[in-house]
Formats: sequence, structure tokens, C-alpha cells
Amino acid sequence: MKRELTCIICPRGCALTAEVEDKQVRVSGNACPRGEEYAVSECLHPVRTVTATLRVANRCDTMVSVKTERPVSKDKMPEVMQQLRNTQVNAPLFVGDVVLQEICGSRIIVTKTVL
Ligand code: SF4
Repeated sequence: MKRELTCIICPRGCALTAEVEDKQVRVSGNACPRGEEYAVSECLHPVRTVTATLRVANRCDTMVSVKTERPVSKDKMPEVMQQLRNTQVNAPLFVGDVVLQEICGSRIIVTKTVL
């Protein structure tokens, strides 16, 4: 199987071609080794950083932005979102605060301060 990808590791955005056969990936179009690493990961085990907003229970009409501290498997994204949908937090919150210890292998951290 042949896939066309755009490398998202740096702003150059190299156009990559990945040919996958028997769990082996042959990559071309990358200007550096990080592009090959990205394409192999994207073909064999794609991961994503999940971002969301949570309701701040002790503030009127207030949401706080959060993200997974590390990328999680792309197929786990619905599970992460489902758990976040049922989560509320209380202010004060500071950038980097951990609001959930473990969802699909990652902690959930705050990306906006709410006093
Ligand atoms: S392959 Fe290397 S140079 Fe090209 S976009 Fe990816 S990281 Fe940047």
C-alpha cells in the first residue's frame, strides 16, 4: 500500500511517500531522518495529542483548555474524549496542572490559567 503524507514535524512540510509492505515502511521525500520516523509511526502506529475543554464547576460559564501530556494512540481518541466529556474541574487552575492522572496512557494537563 502506498500513502502520500505531509510531514508535520517542522514548518518545511515535506511531501512524503510511504510504501507499506509486510509491516515494513519505505519512505521517500523526507529531507531529514525525522520525516522517515514520522511516516513510519503514522503508517504503523499513529498517535495524536488530544485537546479539549472542560467545564470549570466553581466558575460561571467558564471552560478550561486541556490536552494529553503525551500523544495517545489514534484509535484511543474516542475513549479519551468520552472520559473528558464526563469531567469537571475546579479553579484555580494553572498551566501544567494535572487534572486527570491517566487516560489511555497519558495524564491530562491544563493549557490555560483560570483564577
Ligand atoms: S522531513 Fe525533516 S525537514 Fe522535512 S518536514 Fe519533516 S522534519 Fe522537516
